[in-house]
Amino acid sequence: MPPTLTFGRPDDFHVHFRQGEVAGHFARDAQDAGFARVLVMPNTLPPIDSAPALTEYRRQIEAAAPGLRALMTFKIRPGLDRQTLADLRSAGAVAGKLYPEGVTTHSEDGVRRLEDAWPVFAAMEDLDLVLCLHGEHPDAFSLDREAAFLGGLSSLRAAFPRLRMVLEHVSTAAGVDAVLSSGPLTAATLTAHHLLFTLDDMVGGKLDPHLFCKPLLKRPEDRTRLVEAALSGNPQFFFGSDSAPHSREHKEAALCSAGCYTMPVSLGLLLELFESRGALDRLEAFVSRFGAQFYGLEPNPGTLTFEKLPWKVPSLVHGVVPLKAGTTLSWSLKSLQGA
Ligand SMILES: [Zn+2]
Repeated sequence: MPPTLTFGRPDDFHVHFRQGEVAGHFARDAQDAGFARVLVMPNTLPPIDSAPALTEYRRQIEAAAPGLRALMTFKIRPGLDRQTLADLRSAGAVAGKLYPEGVTTHSEDGVRRLEDAWPVFAAMEDLDLVLCLHGEHPDAFSLDREAAFLGGLSSLRAAFPRLRMVLEHVSTAAGVDAVLSSGPLTAATLTAHHLLFTLDDMVGGKLDPHLFCKPLLKRPEDRTRLVEAALSGNPQFFFGSDSAPHSREHKEAALCSAGCYTMPVSLGLLLELFESRGALDRLEAFVSRFGAQFYGLEPNPGTLTFEKLPWKVPSLVHGVVPLKAGTTLSWSLKSLQGA
């Protein structure tokens, strides 16, 4: 019998499902990958920025994937008023997502200066909504954008001491340090791809567009700090895949879109990583407990079991090339209990 590993049903605290018919396919993939809950990002076209839009988007997702609970976010605009925020919260929003202008997919209408959205953050603090940050400063050199944002993180921390904040897809050692020094109401999500790859994997040999994402993959020493944070058992660091599907035509092209489709492979890759560090016993907290704890949610009922049997990653999923397409991972999903 191959070795197995069983752990509580996991959450993914950062996913992109896009919109229209494909959103249902991608939601179904999240359910099939074994996730019980996902935090759904709002940068659709048009964006999710009102209670009716949020309710309709959640309905589409949960209709396509009835075993998946969609935790919803809205896109922060400087003009969002307190009533709209209260309505979003009543409709079930748990977080608002800040996109600085122009830093990633569909962020052309993002926030130019953090101060422009100060009243929104104040209202979110009062309403106990989590602030999810795409923590990159758009004017900095591409590799320095996260570091350039961290001053903004500390001003936010100082101005809104009760506001829960998440530095999404942290990608640098400096980002990890900033979260550590900001106290327990500041957390960070970590993606599988930032834990596994550096910029060299994308551009060091032939260009691999399937590793092109925002924030960019960074230096080996950054990756080392990210892995330490993931393995540390510190509840400020938890899993968010930033799984971001783009069609093969949009990735294998000039002006390639940023984003990695990691949903089908994230858990398998994390199993390999934690196993290689002798830390399989810490995986459950990272994927199934710390995020829920930060968001004030109970752990999911039920378990997932993986077994150590080779699993070949498909080369194409709904027209999208997943991360590690065509390669073989060493763990495969065996069963899901008590969903
Ligand atoms: Zn994202």
